Amino acid sequence: MKKFIFVIMLIIILNICSTQEIQFGKIDSTQLTDGPYIFWQGEDVFVNYFVNGEAVKKIFAIYELDNYNLVIPELDFDQKIHFDHKIPNDIFKDVEKFFVISDVHGQYNQFVRILLNNQIVDEKLNWNWQNGHLVVLGDVFDRGPQVTESLWLIYKLEQQAENAGGKVHVLLGNHELMIFQNDLRYIHEKYEIVTEKLETEYSDLFSPKTVLGNWLRTKPTIIQINDLIFCHAGISPEMSQNFSDLRSINATANLIFRRENLVSDDENEKLLTGSWGAYWYRGYFMKSKKYELITETEIETILARFKAEKIIVGHTTQDSVLSLWNGKVIAVDSGIKYGDKGEALLWQDGTFYRAFAQNSKKKLDLKH
Ligand code: ZN
Repeated sequence: MKKFIFVIMLIIILNICSTQEIQFGKIDSTQLTDGPYIFWQGEDVFVNYFVNGEAVKKIFAIYELDNYNLVIPELDFDQKIHFDHKIPNDIFKDVEKFFVISDVHGQYNQFVRILLNNQIVDEKLNWNWQNGHLVVLGDVFDRGPQVTESLWLIYKLEQQAENAGGKVHVLLGNHELMIFQNDLRYIHEKYEIVTEKLETEYSDLFSPKTVLGNWLRTKPTIIQINDLIFCHAGISPEMSQNFSDLRSINATANLIFRRENLVSDDENEKLLTGSWGAYWYRGYFMKSKKYELITETEIETILARFKAEKIIVGHTTQDSVLSLWNGKVIAVDSGIKYGDKGEALLWQDGTFYRAFAQNSKKKLDLKH
């Protein structure tokens, strides 16, 4: 009997090993190109990246890099970096035009295609939209293989837009939250190799002592542009009852992300980060096991509370950019996560458009 159990155990162990091998086998680690990941400790800055499977590690003094361009020709990386990112403003009035993209999920190529074909960036992926506002509505992380490239592109565009009189807003989604909490259920297998080679946890690559992690932790959960509010998953009736305005939501989120341990006993913090919070809620879309479908009256109450005409959300994937609840909700997540799908929301000259990846746009029907 003991022998039998031993054989069964051996089969199970061998099976686990071989699945892992197959999983790692899908990515050719000799081709691995990724980074840079920039950490600092005291006065030292550690820059790690991979080029064609080769790991490169460099050390600088912080004064050599802070506010200067870090240039890595092999990665086509030439970027001014900072070590202390300020909490940005969250209310913007008199904005002439904006472009909203959501749930990029590491699908850098599709992300770039949509930005490029709508002239938000030029051929060299530099900011090309003058005083326009680009809103990245959360969930840049997870699923796809080019999260790092997507984050650095947004980081660069943010600075370039600022210099051109425009703006880039990055809002946090549930997948940013998951990475901060080292919940790695959805990371692409490429990043398992990266973390193995760097002998670290994936979340440590985005800790408060990394350039990207420090930057992301300052980002808002909800913003207002003109008379519209933007939030990754949506504001539930529960959230609306417990938070008096947008500033109180962002202030609570900033408190959470400044801490080492994100979890606390505070009721408002638990609401914000839980299923009915701004990162996870799905009640605008359909009744499910977890969520009651919201009513139009409840949406009207939420909009009145936040002094807004519409709320613009991502997170729950639709077939296209879509108007719901008689134009009071606009859903932007249209499946960029699949790699060859998805569109963006454009507002200019007072009109909402679905902006496609193939250099065309269509007026959004707001009657639904
Ligand atoms: Zn999401």
